[in-house]
Amino acid sequence: RKRVVSGVQPTGALHLGNYLGAIKNWISLQDTYETFFFIVDLHAVTLPYETKDLSKATKDTAAIYLACGVDISKASVFVQSHVRAHAELMWLLSSTTPIGWLNRMIQFKEKSRKAGDENVGVALLTYPVLMAADILLYQSDFVPVGDDQKQHLELTRQLAERVNNLYGGRKWKKMGGRGGSIFKIPEPLIPPTGARVMSLTDGLSKMSKSAPSDQSRINLLDPKDVIANKIKRCKTDSFTWLEFDNPDRPECNNLLCIYQLVSGKTKEEVAQECQSMSWGTFKPLITDAVIDHLQPIQARYEEIMSEPSYLDGVLAEGAAKATDIADTTLNNVYQAMGFLRR
Ligand code: ATP
Ligand code: MG
Repeated sequence: RKRVVSGVQPTGALHLGNYLGAIKNWISLQDTYETFFFIVDLHAVTLPYETKDLSKATKDTAAIYLACGVDISKASVFVQSHVRAHAELMWLLSSTTPIGWLNRMIQFKEKSRKAGDENVGVALLTYPVLMAADILLYQSDFVPVGDDQKQHLELTRQLAERVNNLYGGRKWKKMGGRGGSIFKIPEPLIPPTGARVMSLTDGLSKMSKSAPSDQSRINLLDPKDVIANKIKRCKTDSFTWLEFDNPDRPECNNLLCIYQLVSGKTKEEVAQECQSMSWGTFKPLITDAVIDHLQPIQARYEEIMSEPSYLDGVLAEGAAKATDIADTTLNNVYQAMGFLRR
């Protein structure tokens, strides 16, 4: 079976963007593919963070995966740092990654500008190399990602090709390996709608866990009244009708897309239903649709968290399975690169 891997950082509360852009799409993939969904905690320390919150956020993220419908009888769920091969392969890959490739990454430029030079660790720059390791270790065929990760995935592909060319094929055979490609080249899976859920307070920037204002996002665990309040106060415009795809109305397009995805309706249905609505009519409608969609997820989350040892077991099992596969790839890389093996 073809493989799919994806992950979310435990950097804060998961929001509708993470759900609509990533996790919701995982659910439909787990029947068809062999899936690995992890919590990328090593990525979460690339910007200043609270040590006391990291392990709780890691568990929360895992619980949300399950609450959203990730099924452990089909998918492996684990914590990135529990599988040592991620950090190790990253080191090996970083030896063949040109710095110029990393300097061009938009996320690095944006995040480093916001944090200020004194706060930016080297890991923020080398983040995409770790992401490449996350993907390549599992010989993944597909990686479901939001728009924001497209550039990183492209770098992963280039890096995989570079390593295959430098160390694979006949050279690898001479080192005692099987020859051929060391890494499979992964393809992105980008959802048609939801790939980029925008902030509630600015329709031009993406909804983000790490954005300072909580008003800018709807968190998956927000209580009803908080969701209602955020939507009530979100940015709109002074038009008296609603429409998709008008570049002058990014907030309007974003809210309609969110409504479309949480209601399960088609774009045409939503366009029809909402075209002559005012904001005053639409806001209660989208509020109810979001709350109705999140309610069962929140209930399952509470259930999972009420029995903490259950989650520990899930993560241990997931890590064991992932380690087997990851170690095989890692050993191949060491061999192909000519290291003395134990
Ligand atoms: P951070 O601000 O800490 O980077 P984030 O909200 O960007 O957090 P990530 O953990 O970086 O979340 O990304 C997890 C997954 O969610 C990725 O697949 C990413 O593409 C997707 N994603 C993140 N934000 C959005 C968004 N606004 N719309 C759609 N998908 C998103
Ligand atoms: Mg991000």
